[in-house]
Amino acid sequence: MRGHMDPGGREGCPDTGRWVAVACGLVTELEAAPLLDHAGNCASCAEKLRGAILTVADETDSPEEEFFKSLGTSQPDWRRDIARRLAADRPR
Ligand SMILES: [Zn+2]
Repeated sequence: MRGHMDPGGREGCPDTGRWVAVACGLVTELEAAPLLDHAGNCASCAEKLRGAILTVADETDSPEEEFFKSLGTSQPDWRRDIARRLAADRPR
């Protein structure tokens, strides 16, 4: 728990492992598209995806910044799209 609501188990929600795979870039764009679409409409899953990204990027000083930076330069469009969504959603 990170102080955020997690209803857990809303119908049709992918499990956390899926979000880790997305964050790691282990899924194809075809697989990721519906997941990202879901995350765009599901606060719980958006939070899981964000957590997965933070976990994956754990070794950098500012994980999200680094992740977004890498997305902005050399990643396919769909990953930039995640970055945009999460960045837009970021608390300031
Ligand atoms: Zn969900």
